Amino acid sequence: RETDLVEVVQQAADAFRASHPDHPLTVRPGPATLTARVDPQRIRQVLDNLLTNAAVHTPPGTEVSVAVSARDGTARVRVADAGPGIPAADRERVFDRFYRVDKARSRDRGGSGLGLAVAASLVRAHGGDIGLASEPGATVFTVTLPPAGPPDLTDP
Ligand code: ATP
Ligand code: MG
Repeated sequence: RETDLVEVVQQAADAFRASHPDHPLTVRPGPATLTARVDPQRIRQVLDNLLTNAAVHTPPGTEVSVAVSARDGTARVRVADAGPGIPAADRERVFDRFYRVDKARSRDRGGSGLGLAVAASLVRAHGGDIGLASEPGATVFTVTLPPAGPPDLTDP
């Protein structure tokens, strides 16, 4: 199924602005359209997860941004925030089920620690990948999705 990722991102951004007015969101300039062979509802779910995290795990007023780009046909969506960041020791484990960095604080915020595990499985089910870079003041989640094209039937 061919999906315009730019359109999905724009819809996720509109929904985020309505539900999280205390976190200013920027959609960074990129291509006018970008086609990928993905399920739009699933990719929307991934984006909603990442955007909600950027709001829930950072103080009010923290800037959030989302960007779409492409290189060699591989689509890339990045969700960034200017929050406190995720310590190096936790960066791999945040994709584990039920893992939360600050358990007491995260429990206050009602998180179950499943969001990123679900996001990672959805992205991988599309043949893509999800990664994270973080330092104090900047956390960036990057989702890559393979080029739209005929399915690779040789893949085991
Ligand atoms: P759920 O998404 O299931 O409601 P959750 O948000 O706690 O709960 P995940 O989305 O899997 O769970 O995130 C795991 C943990 O990673 C969070 O509890 C939080 O500690 C940390 N985290 C995720 N995104 C960010 C972010 N943008 N900034 C800082 N910490 C983050
Ligand atoms: Mg979450």
